[in-house]
Amino acid sequence: MNKLTDFPYSCVLVLGLAKSGTAAAKLLLENHISVRVNDKEAPANDANVQMLQELGAEVITGSHPLTVLDGMEMVVKNPGIPYNNPIVQEAQKRHIPVITEIELAGNMVEGSIIGITGSNGKTTTTMLTAQMLKASKEPVQLAGNIGTVATDVASTLKPEEKMVLELSSFQLMGIRNFKPKIAVLLNIFAAHLDYHGTFANYKAAKCNIFKNQTAADYLIYNAEQETVVDAVGGAKSTKIPFSVNRELRNGAWADDSSVYFKNEKIIDKQEIVLVGEHNLENILAAVAAAKLSGANNEAIRQVLMTFTGVRHRLQYVETINSRIFYNDSKATNVLATQKALSSFDKPTILLAGGLDRGNGFADLLPYLANVKLMVLFGETKEKLKKLADQAGIDAVLVEDVAMAAKTAYAKSDAGDVILLSPACASWDQYQTFEERGDMFVQAVHTLV
Ligand code: ADP
Repeated sequence: MNKLTDFPYSCVLVLGLAKSGTAAAKLLLENHISVRVNDKEAPANDANVQMLQELGAEVITGSHPLTVLDGMEMVVKNPGIPYNNPIVQEAQKRHIPVITEIELAGNMVEGSIIGITGSNGKTTTTMLTAQMLKASKEPVQLAGNIGTVATDVASTLKPEEKMVLELSSFQLMGIRNFKPKIAVLLNIFAAHLDYHGTFANYKAAKCNIFKNQTAADYLIYNAEQETVVDAVGGAKSTKIPFSVNRELRNGAWADDSSVYFKNEKIIDKQEIVLVGEHNLENILAAVAAAKLSGANNEAIRQVLMTFTGVRHRLQYVETINSRIFYNDSKATNVLATQKALSSFDKPTILLAGGLDRGNGFADLLPYLANVKLMVLFGETKEKLKKLADQAGIDAVLVEDVAMAAKTAYAKSDAGDVILLSPACASWDQYQTFEERGDMFVQAVHTLV
């Protein structure tokens, strides 16, 4: 069990429980630090509340009185809690440091972390990097959104293991000394501005990933995105750029035919299963991170030849009678569906529709050149039908994604791509976008 080192605080408030708050509180208690937990929502008989109480935590639920800060030397905040929360503001007024759970993880295993951030592509890049290391027999653990909470992984990480850690801007905002050995900055688009207030704040949060790095650490970044290039300007790290369209002998790059790291060819592009230029960026970042961590070229190649994508994100499902099915149920807005449509140059049948948020779909129009048929469902099907009419594309209206899969298959020809990329949230018909994607994948598998 790894311990917190150089942690001069004896009384800590954990604000917000959930998965990361529970893990942080448990870790602090195991390190003999006195813990007070405050969560407005968690019921007093919640299993986590009871477990933490048994370990010695003081737990206050039901409200957020400012007095929870009395006697506290540090606050570990759940990343979802905004900085305008009254307790966070009061903590700042009282000069009590506010961190997130990531800082605790970094404290225990500095030197072993590959941290990955960006507005988009984090999960894909994190998974790719971890798989490339695993395939190279390099011991590795995954943490973040798709893995386990970072502190849980960090507290049991063995000295020879590396932690591949997906990092959101929310988590990065609350760091002080956190320093990954390898940092990846994929891209910075305007996002989460309701939380961060301004684009400058959001960008600054992303830049925290390298703020403590030195020349002994690596910073992998997208050399084709101006905002990113500008952001990394002041970094002290050893910089490793990547580019999808330019030779970069000091980084990862691609030309029309292949992917390279520095002077070595890694793989023919044709052999890569993942589609889309955005995924090529994720691949280059992952190749760089994996190579710098000791992965071998053959293992990287094997991963790229078999990795079908993270579930529901332009995930390759199956080819049936030369019809190629993709599940992009995570595409809950027009922007994501544009990305998906840009990824194919084959005739495409687009399956779309879902929750009506009141927006239009005209921004899809320039991306429909390869679309031969639209199969539409959900609240927005009539709106999308109008778009199809405008584009001169045939459209069929159906009940749900399962029917959409069947209808698309019945009306397809050999060589077609059949793409679920709804451009809408799922909540009109499904609990989550995952459930919607699973229904689609199931329906596809029954077509055989
Ligand atoms: P995140 O974990 O950052 O949300 P994911 O890997 O889950 O990212 O991908 C989510 C969606 O973001 C994808 O379906 C795709 O539409 C878009 N995306 C992925 N990678 C990139 C990228 N490098 N640049 C732009 N958009 C991307």
